[in-house]
Order: sequence, then C-alpha cells, then structure tokens
Amino acid sequence: MINPEEAYKYMDNLEFLHEIENASDENISSCYQCYKCSIGCPVAAEMDVLPHRIIRHIINGNQEKVLGSKSIWMCLQCKACSVRCPNDIDIAHVIDTLRKISVKLNMYAEKDIRLFDNLFLESIKARGRLYELEVLMKYKIAKKDILSDTKMGIDMIFKGRMGILPHNIKDRKTLKTIFKKIEDDRTNE
Ligand code: SF4
Ligand code: SF4
Repeated sequence: MINPEEAYKYMDNLEFLHEIENASDENISSCYQCYKCSIGCPVAAEMDVLPHRIIRHIINGNQEKVLGSKSIWMCLQCKACSVRCPNDIDIAHVIDTLRKISVKLNMYAEKDIRLFDNLFLESIKARGRLYELEVLMKYKIAKKDILSDTKMGIDMIFKGRMGILPHNIKDRKTLKTIFKKIEDDRTNE
C-alpha cells in the first residue's frame, strides 16, 4: 500500500507536469522516452540536460532540474526535436515555456544569456532592427568588461560585418503596438 508521504510526493510531481502541460498546451505525458529529440538536437553536446531528459524530469516533477538547467537557455529554437517527435510534442515550445517560468520564479541559470536577450529585444523594440554595436556596448558595460574582444569588434567594423550607425525602420508606431500587445499578453498570463 502506498504511504501518505509517497502519495503527496506523487501529487506534487503531477502538479508540476500539469502546470507545464497547461502553460505549453503540449501533451508531455505521451512521451515514451524514445530519445529521438535528443539525437536530432544540434546543441545537445553543450547541454547539461538533454531534451528527452528535460521531458522526463517534467513528468517526474523535478522542477529544479529543468527550471535551473542551462539547456533551456542553450536551445536555439530550431524545432529539429519537435519535428522528430513521434508523439507530436513540440519540445521547443515546451522549452520556451520553461524559460518564461524560470524567469518568473527567478530560477534561471544563464543570467548572461537572459541579459543579452533583453538587450537584443530592447534594440528591436526601439529601432525595428538590431543595432549590434549598441547592444554589445550595453552588454559589456553591464558585465563590467569593456576591453575583452575589442580587436574582434574593430575587425568586424572594418570588414563591414557590424555597422557604426543604427538603422531604423519607418513604421515604428506599428512595432510599438506589437510589443505592447506582447507585454499585455504576458502580464495576463
Ligand atoms: S522524441 Fe518525443 S517521445 Fe521521444 S523522447 Fe523526445 S519528447 Fe519523448
Ligand atoms: S529546438 Fe532546441 S532542443 Fe530542440 S533541437 Fe533545436 S536546439 Fe535542440
């Protein structure tokens, strides 16, 4: 017979699974650990938790292992895993959902990637296009690391890979409306 402590643990596990299934609208429970998602992942070698293990940890209720993993920030959102899944689980979408929840709960492992993501989006929001030089400078100031990679940066400017001046799109009003809608949707989530 299952003891009450075991039963509570089991219910806790299910709670996390249901939370992620509801937030992502994906049928995570249908995973049978075939490993196909991990085999197709181009950054699997960099990950601390492979995609099929992320799914397994969600099913087992191991919240910290997935929300605190580096893998969810290494993911390129290429969806190679999602198209390979025989159970139609959009793993990339699950990972994106985990990112949002890890930020909400302040459990995210890759603070630098999160910082870079924010600066990237700030630039797009302000100009409609990425102003790489500005993003890089803001990132380096935030990291208190101005001097590293200076030579590479100068080389990129001289080779025309990075512009000195920003380029703005014309219709920035529509862009602001799109960002406002995204922010409002996130507040209501
Ligand atoms: S491909 Fe799908 S079913 Fe197979 S391990 Fe990955 S998530 Fe599970
Ligand atoms: S979406 Fe992410 S987890 Fe899936 S294959 Fe691409 S990089 Fe790997």
